[in-house]
This record gives sequence, structure tokens and C-alpha cells, in this order.
Amino acid sequence: TSRWSLNGMTALVTGGTRGIGHAIVEELAGLGAAVYTCSRNEAELNKCLKEWEGKGFLVSGSVCDASSKDQRQKLVENVASLFNGRLNILVNNVGTNIRKPTIEYSAEEYSKLITTNFESSYHLCQLAHPLLKASQVGSIVFISSVAGVMHIGSGSIYGPTKAAINQLTKNLACEWAKDNIRTNCVAPWYIRTSLVEHLLEKKELLEKIITRTPLQRVGEPEEVSSIVAFLCLPASSYITGQVISVDGGLTVNALN
Ligand code: NDP
Repeated sequence: TSRWSLNGMTALVTGGTRGIGHAIVEELAGLGAAVYTCSRNEAELNKCLKEWEGKGFLVSGSVCDASSKDQRQKLVENVASLFNGRLNILVNNVGTNIRKPTIEYSAEEYSKLITTNFESSYHLCQLAHPLLKASQVGSIVFISSVAGVMHIGSGSIYGPTKAAINQLTKNLACEWAKDNIRTNCVAPWYIRTSLVEHLLEKKELLEKIITRTPLQRVGEPEEVSSIVAFLCLPASSYITGQVISVDGGLTVNALN
């Protein structure tokens, strides 16, 4: 197999019906992988699966709320039976946010963000480990955020969940290297998706983002999926434990 192809490989991408996850599904499938994905909305999932079939991509999927322990278990059972107990690629993409001042968060909101953004990814790694190991060449990619390394006004729960993912990347990279599983993480700045489109409509905020960003624009989902794909390819076989920003230069810019 070529260093720049995912032919014959299998992947699980969580949250593939919109935004960054959708772009990742298409990128991996376009490089030849058989992809399994999930989301909570059945109609939207089926619409995507139909479109992918039309494009000639090998994608299947099922409804799963990644924040539910039982549904995660079922998801990985589906993947195991479809891919004969082996999985090359796990992309933990699902994540969400609730923005408010720290003292206004309820206990329910706190636990929803911790569960959706961190616990779900952690548990999916545990569940997928035997499959990744059995494939003999495994790769995990987390979708984190620049909010995991600096304050970006996105609330005090979201940032810490992403910081936890950044550290988990390093722990698993070391612990599972012996199983030939690489673990890396991609940390985007503002990317135009349904998660943030309502924020980008606010002229004042958009202007602030653009002046702070050396490349002077927000990113597109395809500008994240490309590095995710690279981290899954044989071409990146010596890269593990890394958190890579996709941020138009934001995190290296102190003055503007
Ligand atoms: P979107 O909200 O646009 O898309 C999220 C996708 O995941 C949808 O397909 C959604 O479908 C699915 N999803 C959401 N929650 C769940 C769940 N509990 N279980 C299963 N599927 C779910 O988000 P983005 O593409 O913007 O974000 C993807 C990741 O990138 C997140 O981890 C986010 O934190 C991160 N990120 C995004 C940035 C941005 O600016 N957009 C910047 C930095 C990081 P459905 O709702 O139907 O379940």
C-alpha cells in the first residue's frame, strides 16, 4: 500500500453529519478508507449516507448519542462486527459548547460538557483499543481546540475539557505505542460550522477574530480534515503524541 493512501483501512469518525466531522468522513473515504460514522439525528444521517453512496464513498453509520455509555458500547459493537474486529482509525470529533459566565453554569450543564467532550472520547478509546490493536496499524485523532491551550472567551468548562484531551493524547501515545497505535490531536481556531455560525454572524466578534488571526480569516472544515487525514496515513508513521494547531497563526501571535 502507498504512503499516501488509506486503501484497505477502516475508520470510525464520531459526529460525521456536519462541520468538521463531515469533512473528515469525506477526506478519509476519498483516500480509500471504509468509514463508519454516527450522529444523533437519524434523518440527517441517512441523507448524508445517501449522498456519500452517490459519490462512490464507502461509508456506513448508525444513530448514536456519544454522550451515552450504552450507545457508545453499541456503536463499537456495530463497528467490530462490520470490520471483523479490526479498526485502523478512530477520530474522536464529537464536541459541543455552552457559553456563559462561570458562576452561571448549572451542575447539569457542567456534566453535559464534561461527558460529551471528554468522557465520551475517553471511553471510546477504551472500547476501540482491542480493535485498533488487532488491526496492527492503529491511529487515534482527537479534535481539540485552541481553547485547550489559551483563553478564547468560550467558557470555563469547554477549555478544560479540551486541555484534558490534549494531555490524554500524550498519555495514550506513550501507553499504546507498544500496540502500534499512534495518538495525535488537532486543535482548531474558529472553523465555519453549525457549531459557531451564530457567533460568526456577530460582526464585532468576527472582526475581533480576523484582526487577531495572522491569516485574517476563519478556517473551513476541509482545512482541518486534511491534517486529520495526514495523521492517519502511513506517511505520518513516526508522528505520535502531538497536538497540532490549525489556527491561521493565532496561537503564535501576541501582538497585532
Ligand atoms: P458541529 O456542531 O457543526 O457538528 C457536530 C457534529 O457532531 C454533527 O454531525 C452532530 O450531529 C454531531 N454530534 C454532536 N453531538 C453529538 C453527540 N452527543 N453524539 C453524536 N453525534 C453528535 O460541530 P463542529 O464541526 O464545529 O465541531 C466538531 C469538533 O470540533 C468539536 O469537538 C468541536 O469542539 C471542535 N472545534 C470546533 C471549532 C469550530 O470553530 N467549529 C473550533 C475548535 C474545535 P447531531 O447534532 O445530529 O448529533
